[in-house]
Amino acid sequence: MLKVAKFGGSSVAGPEQFQKVKAIIEADPSRRVVVSSAAGKRDAADHKLTDLLYLCHAHLTYGVPCDDIMETILRRFVEIKEALGLRYDVEGELRAFMARMNKDMPVDELVSRGEYFTSRLLAEYLGFTFVDAASCVFFGLDGQVDREKTDQAILAALKANGSILIPGFYGRLPTGRIKVMSRGGSDISGALAAAAVGADVYENWTDVSGILMADPRIVKDPAPISRITYAELRELAFMGASVLHEDSIQPVKERGIALNIRNTNRPEDPGTMIVESIEADSSSERFITGIAGRRNFTILTLRKRNLNANQTLGRALEVLDRYKTPVEHITLGLDSFALVLSTATLGDGIYDAVADLRSACRPDDVDVQDGIALVAAVGRKMTSRPGISGRLFRALGENGVNIRTIAQGADELSIIVGVENEQFETAIRVMYDGFAG
Ligand code: ASP
Repeated sequence: MLKVAKFGGSSVAGPEQFQKVKAIIEADPSRRVVVSSAAGKRDAADHKLTDLLYLCHAHLTYGVPCDDIMETILRRFVEIKEALGLRYDVEGELRAFMARMNKDMPVDELVSRGEYFTSRLLAEYLGFTFVDAASCVFFGLDGQVDREKTDQAILAALKANGSILIPGFYGRLPTGRIKVMSRGGSDISGALAAAAVGADVYENWTDVSGILMADPRIVKDPAPISRITYAELRELAFMGASVLHEDSIQPVKERGIALNIRNTNRPEDPGTMIVESIEADSSSERFITGIAGRRNFTILTLRKRNLNANQTLGRALEVLDRYKTPVEHITLGLDSFALVLSTATLGDGIYDAVADLRSACRPDDVDVQDGIALVAAVGRKMTSRPGISGRLFRALGENGVNIRTIAQGADELSIIVGVENEQFETAIRVMYDGFAG
């Protein structure tokens, strides 16, 4: 058994968190590859080191001194070092780095130091070999991760050292320069490491006990999801549930590695297990896996008698393509169709787009309705249960939620309703109360 454990920023925010990480690692000897983020927030008023480093870069660019910020960062590291009695000379190393800082220093190099120094300290504390991501995560000239080279380097490092710790979020370009991933990228580094070593499980340790069935800011104490498929997660994430970096799924999914989201502050909780497929669902499991949604969509309705759907819809999509606006959903009627679009994506282009639609499609009438929220109930078990949508719509109706549009994902993994923005939260609560139990 081999596990890759990635710890997020809040899991390595200070000395107490380091202690929790150590207890987790020591509790299971199969956790032999660790990937670490940069120290994050210790409380709501605190700052993530990565944010501070980006701030420093902005200061450097405009010629404003950033010594205070760097001292704050240094203090965070020294505090961890001293509280845990570590030897690594973080002060000397970081000061040497600071002496090299100038306005031409590449931003990626600067911001990657959050992960670098946090990982140096954590590696020593855990007794793991530190393996710099610059020597085992490689990008090609196209900016994409060179999977083959990365796989080989990480696997070789593990074989040579037995237990390794890799900083997340960055890697090296063929030019030798450091490149960071997009924000939250340590999730991707963890997934790359899990894929490289052929882990049995990729554990993603964070500060929640797994993915929740609904947004806790809307639903009080939503239940955690114990098991979910990659496909369901994709639907939920697309509909606004923020869980993992979306690029962290593919590397593990394609190698059949399960992904387990766990809580560093409550290691006894099993968290959420994300897997390719779940065969024998026990009937006690809920038939809705999760509920998510987003506000601010526009519905564009085109009416045309004797609509030649293939032709007219095709032309309408071509127009929207010119405005670089992806269509989220389409509903087709006998003499009309409606397209759901993100309001912000089309922006002020809506007026020109409607004019273009009129000339391309020659409709009898075009209607624009904005202020629409989409709410999705996602669940692999919905397919096998007749009458789910009927119950869902009735519950919404009984609670005064006016449904403006309905869509079902083609693979029947989700039922999506469009409601007015103002009814967004009510719709989520009604769905949760009626179907999550
Ligand atoms: N430290 C980086 C960030 O804050 C990467 C990560 O934490 O995953 O985005």
